[in-house]
Amino acid sequence: MTIKVRIDPRDNCIADMVCVSLCGDVFEMSDVDGKSQIIAKWRADPNDINHGEVPDEFQDCVDAAAKSCPTQIIHYEGPNGSY
Ligand code: SF4
Repeated sequence: MTIKVRIDPRDNCIADMVCVSLCGDVFEMSDVDGKSQIIAKWRADPNDINHGEVPDEFQDCVDAAAKSCPTQIIHYEGPNGSY
């Protein structure tokens, strides 16, 4: 089972790294603009840094990141929930 994760709208990221500290297996900070992005191995399209699909073992950390993101731009949909 997998979870679809998106950062939307990514422009609203304030780069506080909360998502990376809570779920560093899924999120990382971009070297290009300093904002959060989905780690490359989870992207369906390598150039689409806003979207990824991750194993549902990451549900808890993605959920924590989504609920803790101060600008509420992290969203996910999976078999056991969404945000
Ligand atoms: S928690 Fe939200 S605002 Fe903070 S770095 Fe992650 S996506 Fe950006």
